[in-house]
Amino acid sequence: SPLFLSTAPRLKSLVSIKLRIRSMSSHIVGHPRVGAKRELKFALESFWDGKSSTEELQKVAADLRVSVWKHMADVGIKYIPSNTFSFYDQVLDTTSMLGAVPSRYGWKGGEIGFEVYFSMARGNASVPAMEMTKWFDTNYHYIVPELGPDVEFSYGSHKAVQEYKEAKALGVDTIPVLVGPVSYLLLSKRAKEVEKSFSLLSLIDKILPIYKKVVAELKAAGARWIQFDEPSLVMDLDSHQLDAFTHAYKELESSVSGLNVLIQTYFADLTAEAYSTVTALKGVTAIGFDLVRGHKTLDLIRNGFPPGKYLFAGVVDGRNIWVNDLEASLSTLQALEGVVAKDKLVVSTSCSLLHTAVDLVNENMLDGELKSWLAFAAQKLLEVNVLAKALSGQKDEAFFSANAAALASRRSSPRVTNEAVQKTTAALKESDHHRATVVTARLESQQEKLNLPILPTTTIGSFPQTAGLRKVRREYKAGKKVSISEEEYVEAIKGEIAEVIKIQEELGIDVLVHGEPERNDMVEYFGEQLSGFAFTENGWVQSYGSRCVKPPIIYGDVSRPKPMTVFWSTLAQSMTKRPMKGMLTGPVTILNWAFVRNDQPRHETCYQIALAMKEEVEDLEKAGIKVIQIDEAALREGLPLRKSEQAFYLEWAVHSFRITNSAVEDATQIHTHMCYSNFNEIIGAVKDMDADVVTIENSRSEQKLLSVFSEGVKYEAGIGPGVYDIHSPRVPSTQEIAERIEAMLAVLEAKTMWINPDCGLKTRKYSEIMPALTNMVAAAKLVRSRT
Ligand code: GLN
Ligand code: ZN
Repeated sequence: SPLFLSTAPRLKSLVSIKLRIRSMSSHIVGHPRVGAKRELKFALESFWDGKSSTEELQKVAADLRVSVWKHMADVGIKYIPSNTFSFYDQVLDTTSMLGAVPSRYGWKGGEIGFEVYFSMARGNASVPAMEMTKWFDTNYHYIVPELGPDVEFSYGSHKAVQEYKEAKALGVDTIPVLVGPVSYLLLSKRAKEVEKSFSLLSLIDKILPIYKKVVAELKAAGARWIQFDEPSLVMDLDSHQLDAFTHAYKELESSVSGLNVLIQTYFADLTAEAYSTVTALKGVTAIGFDLVRGHKTLDLIRNGFPPGKYLFAGVVDGRNIWVNDLEASLSTLQALEGVVAKDKLVVSTSCSLLHTAVDLVNENMLDGELKSWLAFAAQKLLEVNVLAKALSGQKDEAFFSANAAALASRRSSPRVTNEAVQKTTAALKESDHHRATVVTARLESQQEKLNLPILPTTTIGSFPQTAGLRKVRREYKAGKKVSISEEEYVEAIKGEIAEVIKIQEELGIDVLVHGEPERNDMVEYFGEQLSGFAFTENGWVQSYGSRCVKPPIIYGDVSRPKPMTVFWSTLAQSMTKRPMKGMLTGPVTILNWAFVRNDQPRHETCYQIALAMKEEVEDLEKAGIKVIQIDEAALREGLPLRKSEQAFYLEWAVHSFRITNSAVEDATQIHTHMCYSNFNEIIGAVKDMDADVVTIENSRSEQKLLSVFSEGVKYEAGIGPGVYDIHSPRVPSTQEIAERIEAMLAVLEAKTMWINPDCGLKTRKYSEIMPALTNMVAAAKLVRSRT
């Protein structure tokens, strides 16, 4: 096995040892764990449903780990990670390792088992789950540790050591990966009762003893390397936070002696301060950087890297699905050879491959040309390896020339470039788009036509998607093979829309929706109808736990060959006298939920989508639709990690939104919907979007979060803070909803407030939404009568 070459006998000539080591200086930060066919997802869900045993779940998991290690070893990767597998989430694994189980889960000590672990992840009959939040700016979600001064840490999970041993038994000497102690604390939150003044970082000396135990066991098991993931190092950190890194690794220094310690950073540039901190850490022998998103980091490295330390250069993008530009990466690497000792440069991925799809081999629907432009995790392993070999003088010319050919075909393919689109978008950059009239005047023109009561009621768009409905869509999509014709499909969807309209009319809702029965997914539906998009069969990426998403691939200039929603929206409007909302997904959300091309800046792609959606908005308006909702559910997701980059993002994101609707008449009402409630960071941007009505997710937030709308520039547009939580099956009473509305009215004005649930109803059952919406309408009427 090539894995043992790193222990090449010292007797060999220096050159040959160098060559052999150098030829294998390749590293992978982390690997997808769910499996190419989502094996772990199905095993987990079957286990949770009580349909399979612990042993069966363990077996699937072990098989997945083995196949990943074997695959990396076969490719020739030298530094193979372990402990990057997880049954749910690597931060939750760390919480388990540290025994930081909140007391409500009833853990009594000892090795943490599935019951406690999955209760923390998903809740159980009596206790809700721990909070989940986005992992930096990815679509992966982690379980947020809840800490306070009273937490008694103890070594609760030996998973890291077990995985190391498991790989070792297979003949694979891995680098065990741990979430670093400082990032762990920076990613955690204060438990409920803990005072705001409590510093989470003050817990560092309580968790380090456990890290030391883990390190000692890993050493005893034979580990020679250890990787601490410290992605928090790419954030805007103050000196107190940076000092925590210095302190923590100084504390660990004696425990890790004899080991090579890799501090792995990813997702952005490092500030100069963070760079000097990380390069000076005690006991640390290697540092890994994201050189895809880290151009400034590259400059910092060029200006000086500590002699004698390893540099793990993350040149292969772990977050997209494009083939690497191997020649460009090779020259970046070669340039680094001037700053880093020749035998200390290791080729790596920019971050864990967790954030990309698993293996291109499973794609049979993509054509050969497009496929040649793509690299999923399995292909990225080869790229890392081939770069490491090239760096040591063993350049695989065939691989490099195939890569160059793929890049050339991508550059010149007529499928990628649409000159008309390029021209219009280029013209947009310097422009600005605003509606002609101020919002207060617009709302008046709209009200003349819409004639709505005060506190109008509406919903966010989708209605429950029943198994029957999904089946109709699936059979229609499957085409001729299955027995459902175009006419039958239209009839079925039309019937569904009629049903949804009848329900809303009977409930007394003021502004209706058609229920989105023709849509599987709010991005996919548009992507399938726009040019420049491709879809995979198995390009799954873990979002959280067993949940995976399959982002579309934007490979070319985006245009709209023909109207996408006009047929259904006008059909729906023809069935009711009440206003029917046209329902679109906004450009920023489409962008943020896709794999985006990397051959032009993101904002250019976003502008192209905006122009396509603008055509759709205008066609809806022409067809007589008076209210159009343009969802920007994911606008905040794209917010860059570093403050210095946020203003630029918000500027083009908001501009893109405005492009879609700046040319509509005053009397056409533009709504937008956003899936979050904490607007503090982006309130200015939300105001700049200048929608007539914004509906927001507000389920768990207090009214003080809403007060941001009344601070600073006054928000005079309509606002619909969700009055009940659709993410829970619980049905709120009329009284409860009325109280919430009245509490919100303490900060918002009655004349601009809307009454709606906090998100689409797609994932709920009719038996849940019928009573909930009944109570919502009753609550609106109750409050109207009092106002
Ligand atoms: N209109 C979409 C729906 O109701 C919005 C979904 C979302 O915000 N994520 O399903
Ligand atoms: Zn939503």
